[in-house]
Amino acid sequence: MITDNVNADVATTESQIRDIVARQREYFKSGATKSYQSRIENLKKLKSALGRYESAFHAALKQDLGRPEFESFLAETGFNLHELSGTIKKLKRWMKPRRTSTSLLAQPGSSRIYLSPLGVNLIIAPFNYPVALAFSPLTAAIAAGNTVVLKTSEMTPACGAVTRNLIREIFDPEFVAYIEGEVEETTILLQQKFDHIFFTGSPRVGSIVMSAAAKTLTPVTLELGGKSPCIVHEDAKLGVAVKRIVTGKFLNAAQTCVAPDYVMVHKSVKEEFLTRLRDRIVEVYGEDASASPDFSRIVNDNNFRRICSLIDQQKVVVGGQSDADSLFIAPTVMRDVTLADKVMSEEIFGPVLPVLDYESLSDVYEIVDQLPHHPLSCYIFSESTEIQKEIVDTIQFGGGCINNCIFHLANDHLPFGGVGESGIGAYHGVHGFERFSHKKAVLKSATWIDLPLAHVPYGKKIKLLRMVMK
Ligand code: NAD
Repeated sequence: MITDNVNADVATTESQIRDIVARQREYFKSGATKSYQSRIENLKKLKSALGRYESAFHAALKQDLGRPEFESFLAETGFNLHELSGTIKKLKRWMKPRRTSTSLLAQPGSSRIYLSPLGVNLIIAPFNYPVALAFSPLTAAIAAGNTVVLKTSEMTPACGAVTRNLIREIFDPEFVAYIEGEVEETTILLQQKFDHIFFTGSPRVGSIVMSAAAKTLTPVTLELGGKSPCIVHEDAKLGVAVKRIVTGKFLNAAQTCVAPDYVMVHKSVKEEFLTRLRDRIVEVYGEDASASPDFSRIVNDNNFRRICSLIDQQKVVVGGQSDADSLFIAPTVMRDVTLADKVMSEEIFGPVLPVLDYESLSDVYEIVDQLPHHPLSCYIFSESTEIQKEIVDTIQFGGGCINNCIFHLANDHLPFGGVGESGIGAYHGVHGFERFSHKKAVLKSATWIDLPLAHVPYGKKIKLLRMVMK
């Protein structure tokens, strides 16, 4: 139900949601969000508040996801603070109109691209990184001079409460409004007219968001998920590969959109890879991972049951244990998996790592091709630059790493986003600023001369036009 969920502490009904959006529109029209000064002040306010709320967020992440503090800082608060610092430092440069060339037909003149804010934005965040995936797009939206209605996931209520308090403390709802809602509230939100919807979540809900947006021709950014492959070739440095795969997979109990969903390993190194993988998991999480201080829990009972149902105990190499009371699923590896196994039928989004094997790269491409198009991420472990290049050129994916997993996200100079069924549009750093901006293209023509080429009467000017347009 909708209660107490707008910054001003009022109960929120459909008419109140409409009112918030209308007030944001008025506020945006007033121009208050557009100047460099107001953007930078709000970004600094946000950065300082995130610093103050850091321990509250870490406690909430512990409560919602059993998350170790190191991971909370690495992937949430630290990530946001780092991005805010970079944005504050570079915003003046990003906001400058960008000069571009002017083609002969448009001469004499000069051309510039003005990055102008989109207006009133709706940001919908998922449960798995409830801080980072709310505040990273919010940072980009504020930097680009917008207003925002922010909705976080009902599945992480402790993080939602801290987010609400933070937003309520530093922003007025006509600038940034916080809504915590379930399907009912989100459906009402999606019926409003926004200038842009930025959604992070599953492809299923992404499709609902896109259908709703289509009714009002609202542009969408969709940051979705899918089955991200990890390829371990015969020439890979297995020791390094195994360490990085374990870190990338089991962070946040693999409730990570870019986690390697499954591994394809070359047949010739399969047994050694599996042995090393099992040893590494035991080394870092212990024989009983439920006692490890470094391993998160599953967000809720539904997801717990769904993930458990994907485990085929006959194929388990390590792990396989679970405990419903504490929502614990051990880091689990399954061997000799094929596309016929249930674990390959959907995005796993939990600590289960299926391992398939291959003889030639064409087997790899065939497997990827049979899964939904296209993965959000792809990870390639090989020492050969030819193999690396071949795979990058052949598989279509959002982004990824060579000889690493998930750390492309740590570089905010890289655009982060999917392709095909894994998403539309990318953000982070300047790419986020651009995602929340419209590239307004302006040609400024000289007035000291008026060339008659394009004016009527056309006469025989087509000959000249042909030369100019060559
Ligand atoms: P989800 O799609 O279930 O929920 C996302 C948001 O949509 C939540 O705020 C939720 O309240 C809302 N929602 C749920 N059902 C809705 C409906 N019927 N109508 C309107 N809104 C609805 O996703 P989740 O379970 O929170 O997150 C996991 C998924 O998100 C995975 O698929 C994962 O890969 C993806 N994800 C992608 C990224 C990325 O950056 N590409 C990041 C994190 C998660």
